[in-house]
Amino acid sequence: MPTPADRFTTECILAIRRWTPHLFSFRTTRDATFRFVPGQFARLGLRKDDDEVVWRAYSMVSAPYDEHLEFYSIVVPDGEFTSRLAQLAEGDDILVERMNYGFLTTDRFVDGRDLWLIATGTGLAPYISILHDPATWTDYERIVLVHSVRFAAELAYRAELADLAAHPLVGGAAHKLRYVPIVTREPVDGALQDRIPTLIENGELERAAGFPLDHDRSRIMLCGNPQMVDDGRKLLNRLGYKLSRRAAPAHLVVENMW
Ligand code: NAP
Repeated sequence: MPTPADRFTTECILAIRRWTPHLFSFRTTRDATFRFVPGQFARLGLRKDDDEVVWRAYSMVSAPYDEHLEFYSIVVPDGEFTSRLAQLAEGDDILVERMNYGFLTTDRFVDGRDLWLIATGTGLAPYISILHDPATWTDYERIVLVHSVRFAAELAYRAELADLAAHPLVGGAAHKLRYVPIVTREPVDGALQDRIPTLIENGELERAAGFPLDHDRSRIMLCGNPQMVDDGRKLLNRLGYKLSRRAAPAHLVVENMW
């Protein structure tokens, strides 16, 4: 059934940044009424030749106060949506559903001193938005951003993260952020090389962060590859970290990227 026209707005692609042949970010105009909490996602729509619309979920990379929206995407080989998206150019249209979605938001936690933001691949996107929120930097004493990719060239947004951590908006809080890159398919200086659950189990992730996971202090977000999210959640559950719900705030929130 077609999505009613009052459920979405038509936005314009403002800029495209290609990180690798398979990864790109794009900015769009933003309807003045479109609101979201950092960590949430929108549904984006592209019209096919027969005028039917294909919809996919995309986390906002941009901040709630930005006038534009930014998204980060992989090109899925033969993917109905992303192969079409990858061909878009500046000035082209894209549909954005008015509704926002998702619970990968820091307001799911009521306490905690250390925020662990753990991503694979494009699962990084919501964390960039969360790190654009000044409240993240005041609510937590320490923030660990873990990004696991196959190859070093896929470590997107590194420079932006460094700029962000040094930005006056977050009050010179760069010392709070520990960035932990993981590159699994080639050796890279300064990066870990195993998968996230292994690194949690063998203590290497905590060593790289410089401090341990702790039930009282740590609040953890997992986002990305659905298998990583599932394995990571089960492992953390075994270690005593529970899923956080509105009615029962706890340690952990998760989001699958596809
Ligand atoms: P990926 O294969 O998930 O790889 C990104 C990182 O996650 C790598 O370091 C990988 O390690 C690690 N990883 C993969 N499975 C894991 C697991 N079970 N536990 C822990 N770590 C794990 O993601 P990608 O490079 O973003 O995408 C690869 C393929 O996923 C695409 O070709 C596409 O078909 C599909 N896909 C992705 C998206 C998306 O939004 N990213 C959407 C639709 C489909 P290893 O090197 O050890 O695998």
